[in-house]
Amino acid sequence: MAHKLFLLPGDGIGVEVMGEVIKLVGWLNREQKAEFTTDTGLVGGSAYDAHGVAISNADMQKALAADAVIFGAVGGPKWDKVPYEVRPEAGLLRLRKDLGLFANLRPAICYPALADASSLKRELIEGLDILIVRELTGGVYFGEPKEITDLGNGQKRAVDTQVYETYEIDRIVRVAFDLARTRSKKVHSADKKNVMKSGVLWDEVAQSVAKDYPDVAFQHILADNAAMQLVRNPKQFDVMVTDNLFGDVLSDAAAMLTGSLGMLPSASLGAPDKATGKRKALYEPVHGSAPDIAGRGIANPIAMLASFAMALRYSFNLIELADKLEWSIAAVLDDGLRTGDIAQGGTSVGTEEMGAAILKKLAA
Ligand code: NAD
Repeated sequence: MAHKLFLLPGDGIGVEVMGEVIKLVGWLNREQKAEFTTDTGLVGGSAYDAHGVAISNADMQKALAADAVIFGAVGGPKWDKVPYEVRPEAGLLRLRKDLGLFANLRPAICYPALADASSLKRELIEGLDILIVRELTGGVYFGEPKEITDLGNGQKRAVDTQVYETYEIDRIVRVAFDLARTRSKKVHSADKKNVMKSGVLWDEVAQSVAKDYPDVAFQHILADNAAMQLVRNPKQFDVMVTDNLFGDVLSDAAAMLTGSLGMLPSASLGAPDKATGKRKALYEPVHGSAPDIAGRGIANPIAMLASFAMALRYSFNLIELADKLEWSIAAVLDDGLRTGDIAQGGTSVGTEEMGAAILKKLAA
């Protein structure tokens, strides 16, 4: 049966990098490597221009009905002054909320050809392949109360609430263990149980889930130590699971060990459907719409294509194809091909040329 993709290119370079996914999907269909149907919608500023909202209800329905949503990027100066509720990012937040995407997967992979571009020494990051699993819908970003109170004496008091319930921890930790089983079978769970009650519960639940996965090595780590270890010896990690706040920080740090924003993919997954076992999923590059280079055809499409590789792997179980696509990305980098963001002053190619070269490797 054909896999249903819903494409949301968004704004700025989102549209340009999505163009390379569309070519790739066309090729996969033509060559009968896989069977995809695609539909395309509007999100962000482009949806606001057309419908006055950051994503229309009709497109939201299509996202809910799709096997995977492939998302480009949203935003840009043109929409800086639109009302808060319909700002471009509201489209992404609604997608995350309505699709119930609680697990954010952020890989940090070091391509050998780019090892010298890292701020760490080559031997520390060459061959790096870690996956940070961040809880995305709970914790201190959403907990109530969340407010600033005027104390009336020239002082104010700000409160954010870090709150987690057992089920939220259980389901995210299970995602991490399931993924570890497809990788090097090692999970670190990062929290601050030494100073936070939410950390105590986090670890209690993680330890209990670990018992269901006796084949996977499990280790607790304090989140501050995790930050230190990520820059000291990142290759000790395989899968790291953590809450929304620590995950936000640790995944950015881990990702940047390996190079440019234009290289970083991500996936966000929901709970498995009780009947089919399929998870709702959205795949997107980490970068934004890059208004400074939008429309010039020079954006790096690798983050977007690597996000699509994650869709092949996690939504469609097309593991060989995902491996081959990731290998093709590494191979063009080995050949010396670079977009401007990773050229380090050398010669560079445009979005389409990079996309075409990756497709050529895939076809070889
Ligand atoms: P950005 O990621 O768009 O750009 C940061 C810098 O990285 C820019 O110099 C840009 O040219 C460069 N860059 C990013 N992706 C690149 C790529 N694929 N190839 C080459 N260079 C690339 O972040 P920003 O400038 O802070 O934000 C721009 C707009 O994007 C804002 O409206 C912001 O709100 C939005 N944004 C959206 C998302 C999203 O859609 N998920 C994420 C972050 C920012």
